Amino acid sequence: MAKIGFIGLGNMGGPMAANLVKAGHKVKGCDVAADAIAAFVEAGGTPAGSAMEAVRDAEIVVTMLPAGSHVRSVYLADGGVVSTVAAGTLLIDCSTIDVQAARAVAGAASDAGHEMIDAPVSGGVSGAAAGTLTFMVGGSDDAFARAKPILAAMGKNIVHAGGAGNGQAAKICNNMILGISMIGVCEAFVLAEKLGLDHQKLFDISSTASGQCWSLTTYCPVPGPVETAPSNRDYQPGFSTAMMLKDLKLAQEAAQTTSAATPLGAQAQALYALFDAAGNSDVDFSGIIRFLRGNA
Ligand code: NAD
Repeated sequence: MAKIGFIGLGNMGGPMAANLVKAGHKVKGCDVAADAIAAFVEAGGTPAGSAMEAVRDAEIVVTMLPAGSHVRSVYLADGGVVSTVAAGTLLIDCSTIDVQAARAVAGAASDAGHEMIDAPVSGGVSGAAAGTLTFMVGGSDDAFARAKPILAAMGKNIVHAGGAGNGQAAKICNNMILGISMIGVCEAFVLAEKLGLDHQKLFDISSTASGQCWSLTTYCPVPGPVETAPSNRDYQPGFSTAMMLKDLKLAQEAAQTTSAATPLGAQAQALYALFDAAGNSDVDFSGIIRFLRGNA
């Protein structure tokens, strides 16, 4: 069992760290929020007063932080993770951040003699609690092989997407598909309403025809056809609009940096930004159907 330093014990990191404790690892955790530390201690973790204290004698470091700026500062600042841990320590960043930041931090880690992977997740808070997350991993074959048993204590599907930053690339490409396809499905239901076509009829036809996709068949944005979808609980997330908007912005930043043409990704970001600004940050992203009806 490994000695793990865990930084960022929030909505996702808290239950992920708890699953590492449950798997028998010795986990020292740190967060800037006192309530996050308290929940971690309750789950059997050892509290640390600072990131430096959490990682000083760790064999493996896991971070789950809000954005690229937090990741850069936790790893690269004076007295940060990269300059504190012993050479050869495995560093695992599970935050969703921009590809450039992921590659910059991995490069600095490698220069200091450490192995690092980016391993963003999908599966949300419920997947983090159940230990069923999907990890999309960027890094070397060696680092991936070392990380796999640790990730397996927190998730079910662990996919190696290529070199440093490719985990983040996979995550934002996937979520750009999701954002665009959800808007497409919502528009189809709104048009069906105007044409007098019943929701269930459209679902029954399209879910077995060429319009079939995850946004329709697993996460249907109108109540009724898919019992587990957030549309049946007044669009409680699920996956919040704020999170979708964050990932669409990351996709657009990456598209600009690489000159990739993503006009529908840009349009999806603009629509989610309007929906978010109308007071819907905490609403499930499938709730954008209300906005498209003109009543959000
Ligand atoms: P969160 O805000 O609940 O947790 C982040 C934690 O990091 C907070 O507790 C915060 O206090 C802590 N933190 C910030 N700066 C710190 C520092 N310098 N040192 C120590 N702790 C620090 O966010 P979350 O929902 O857990 O999301 C974490 C990451 O996972 C994000 O990148 C997010 O995009 C991604 N993600 C979230 C979900 C989701 O459903 N919540 C799903 C997939 C991916």
